[in-house]
Amino acid sequence: MQANLAAVHSRIANAAVAAGRSPQSVELLAVSKTWPADHLLAAALAGQRAFGESYVQEATTKIAALADLARLPHLEWHFIGPLQSNKTQLVASSFAWVHSVDREKIAARLAAQRPVGMPPLQVCLQVNISGEASKSGVAPAQVGALARAVAAMPGLALRGLMAIPAPATSRDQARAPFARLRQLMAALNSEGMKLDTLSMGMSDDLEAAIAEGATIVRVGTAIFGEREVPV
Ligand SMILES: *Cc1c(COP(=O)(O)O)cnc(C)c1O
Repeated sequence: MQANLAAVHSRIANAAVAAGRSPQSVELLAVSKTWPADHLLAAALAGQRAFGESYVQEATTKIAALADLARLPHLEWHFIGPLQSNKTQLVASSFAWVHSVDREKIAARLAAQRPVGMPPLQVCLQVNISGEASKSGVAPAQVGALARAVAAMPGLALRGLMAIPAPATSRDQARAPFARLRQLMAALNSEGMKLDTLSMGMSDDLEAAIAEGATIVRVGTAIFGEREVPV
């Protein structure tokens, strides 16, 4: 675990330096979906603080289990999976970040359900950057309208954009969708938004994402190993 984390940190640092960026400008989100709490504990003891989860029920069980281990430093939980209306309450009360908001209705529920007294829920809008019919995410042409609606909602802090591009066949090809996401965020900022987060890049393509400006990379397999059930 420690060796895997160190290897991912050095991949991030190398990619950042190659892009003329500071390694500290890229945050590592450890994607721990399907892994039991003891694997997360090992990563936390090796210094990992931010964890990404895709299934609400599974995540809340692990969040509770790890919260009981008092000697652990504060962990930060990010929800990165598809979000249905009947799960927004748990996400609003258990997570610091949501990367997968792609509908105004879901955002409005999260805003209404964010408990008073908690800091605003940090939100990224998921964009269907490769235009795949089967994928979640708002269409690039609609992201501006969604961003303006979400930015006005109390209880939420709109931070940026997230994407899961279609698999690429070459390293050069891998950069194109990440470049499009970066340009989309730049266009929103030129219209007066203040977005600072690009959540993009996973185990296989984090270098391409960092070259195009990723500020959060979401890495599962390279830290925890192959998941038994591919999801
Ligand atoms: C599973 C998952 C990841 C991590 O993928 P790996 O290839 O295991 O690094 C990243 N982002 C999302 C949204 C995921 O569901």
